[in-house]
Amino acid sequence: MSESTGWVLLVWLGSCLGCYVIGRARGAPLLGLLLGLLCGPLGLLLILLIDRRPVCPVCHGRLIFAAAYQQGGPKCCPHCKARLRWRSARDPHSAAAVYFGNGPMIAEAEPTTDN
Ligand SMILES: [Zn+2]
Repeated sequence: MSESTGWVLLVWLGSCLGCYVIGRARGAPLLGLLLGLLCGPLGLLLILLIDRRPVCPVCHGRLIFAAAYQQGGPKCCPHCKARLRWRSARDPHSAAAVYFGNGPMIAEAEPTTDN
């Protein structure tokens, strides 16, 4: 293996790792990894165009969503402090939900109850 081949391989692997890390922060880790594998350094630019994080229904700010939440993301928007509740994008009784799980979670504004 020549020295230049080694450098290309190193840059490609670094791009894969970078794409995965950025994709994970934006809710698309596998897509990030795939872009890194297929496009190399160009994948780093492409993954920056993709953002699958859920948005606040009130201010449309991006919300942090981690798989660790399972049932959803934050209870209140970090931008506008609106109270949020989370629901599955899929009807829980649909065939898709039965076979593929709940799917992506969507934030809804919780109605205010203060009088
Ligand atoms: Zn908000």
